[in-house]
Amino acid sequence: MAQDTSRAQCVDMVIVGAGFGGMYATWKFREMGLDIVSIEEGGDVGGVWYWNRYPGARCDLLSVDYSYGFSDAVQQEWSWSEEFAAQPEILTYANFVADRLDLRKHYRFSTRVISAKWDDTRNLWTVRTSDGAVFEARFCVMSTGPLSMPTDPDIPGLSSYKGMVLRAAKWPHDPVDLQGKRVGVIGTGSSGMQIIQTLGRTDCEVFVFQRTPSFTLPMRNRKLDDAYQTELKRNYPAIRAACRMNPTGGARPVSTRPFFSLPADHRQELMEQAWAHGGHTFLGIFSDLMTNQEANDQVADFVRDKIAQIVTDQQLAEKLKPRGYPIFARRPCLDTEYYETYNLPNVHLIDCLEDPIAEITPRGVRTQSGETELDVLILATGYDALTGAMLSFEITGRQGRPLAEKWAGGPRSLLGIVIEGFPNLFMTTGPNGPAALANIVTISENDVDWIADVITHMDQTGQAAVEASTEAEDSWMERIHQTASNSLMLKAKTWWVGSNVKGKPQGMLMFTGGFHKYREACEAIAANGYRDLVFDSAGSAASPNVKAAAAQ
Ligand code: NAP
Repeated sequence: MAQDTSRAQCVDMVIVGAGFGGMYATWKFREMGLDIVSIEEGGDVGGVWYWNRYPGARCDLLSVDYSYGFSDAVQQEWSWSEEFAAQPEILTYANFVADRLDLRKHYRFSTRVISAKWDDTRNLWTVRTSDGAVFEARFCVMSTGPLSMPTDPDIPGLSSYKGMVLRAAKWPHDPVDLQGKRVGVIGTGSSGMQIIQTLGRTDCEVFVFQRTPSFTLPMRNRKLDDAYQTELKRNYPAIRAACRMNPTGGARPVSTRPFFSLPADHRQELMEQAWAHGGHTFLGIFSDLMTNQEANDQVADFVRDKIAQIVTDQQLAEKLKPRGYPIFARRPCLDTEYYETYNLPNVHLIDCLEDPIAEITPRGVRTQSGETELDVLILATGYDALTGAMLSFEITGRQGRPLAEKWAGGPRSLLGIVIEGFPNLFMTTGPNGPAALANIVTISENDVDWIADVITHMDQTGQAAVEASTEAEDSWMERIHQTASNSLMLKAKTWWVGSNVKGKPQGMLMFTGGFHKYREACEAIAANGYRDLVFDSAGSAASPNVKAAAAQ
């Protein structure tokens, strides 16, 4: 059907999202001279950090890693107060970047994209938004984020509940008074744990509905003093370079030492040291934790022993011990005295494996054994991750093919950036890259820079459209499959493999080979002259601005 585009505003590029990917894309493509419009559902910049304002929200990647390296002015002017920053500081940082680089003027906030359709004859995207605007653009960049579509639990009766329902991922912007309240928390992933360890230390009565216990390691956060900041700022080039060489995209220790290459007492000593030091140290002491089941079991036992040492009631400790899946095959958390929280008299664990939730009632939560009355119910129940945001609106590619149809069996793309059949559509931190397995900021910078190079190449060679070749996409998907199959990553039920959403295709769809290998794959495609991409030069629609910039 012909599209009515008579009201359309013509731009070079539509960018979706104001998280770290969208903000960097907005800066980069503006600096390249493209006429851009950026669209964001939230009322301002920050992405997940705009929405996730729950008590205790904090990033468990080092603040220094979880920040932009592309602008030396930004990194020299900004100082982090803590090794692991809390949500308010990260949001302040996002606002600082937006102000410093004057990004807001490109954004339409509080606006959702409702459709994006490719026009084969004109080599253009038509993008419609919730405020009735229509844009025609040569390029679309989807920086919609891997964790931006929260899901409610599949529990009957939620709408009947008469108390206050709060969602971790859509926390109110105005302060919420929880003082002295009976608060139920459903969900013990990263979000739930942070809420529980924070509310447990207030005068709330906290009822934790735990289904699968998660592994968590001590964060041991600390303030960053002036001397550290000065040293850090001097070393930024080396730190950023190290992040790009690292599997996690962060300056984290990496080991080449297999677990069983060391005697048992030495292994124990290393684990004790890592536990005492906190942060990510633990992940960097052995090289084979995700490939050697026996090594993984021993590390999991070490953490289970710690739970038993921390939690005074041993029956409770048993319930908190994760079992039945390898440690680190679900997203590991870094906590601040999470297990200690359960020694507090106002914190109560309801083990939903033993005593499953039957329904939510008007007064609270009813498990098999009885009803728990609550004033407030907090849902920290996770996300329709990786694909949820991209499939939440209509995207149609060549010959009117919906993305939902192409991705019916799970997302497919080359590098999580370009998709066969969807020309000039790019993703940042897309589902088939390292996405949520590595530092989102490092991946975002990598992806946006790669896209910028592709666009420059197109304009230098007079190409109107680009997409992944079928062969390259197939081969990348096979590499994803092989890499995951060689590890223990598939041995847990988690959002990483889509098992938290009913009916979602199952399987590891992220690249598990590490950010460094992913970056190498991106660079190899550029180095081979983009032979893995298919270009279409018909009626080259190169933006005049980009052409001028390329000619300089
Ligand atoms: P999540 O890890 O998917 O956890 C969701 C929790 O809700 C799980 O404990 C799940 O139990 C539970 N749940 C869902 N439906 C349920 C039901 N019907 N009954 C009982 N329990 C139910 O989600 P998340 O905690 O929001 O974290 C998502 C990701 O966001 C993290 O993995 C991380 O990547 C990121 N994140 C990071 C930070 C940080 O940097 N510190 C903080 C927050 C989030 P089951 O496991 O049994 O399904």
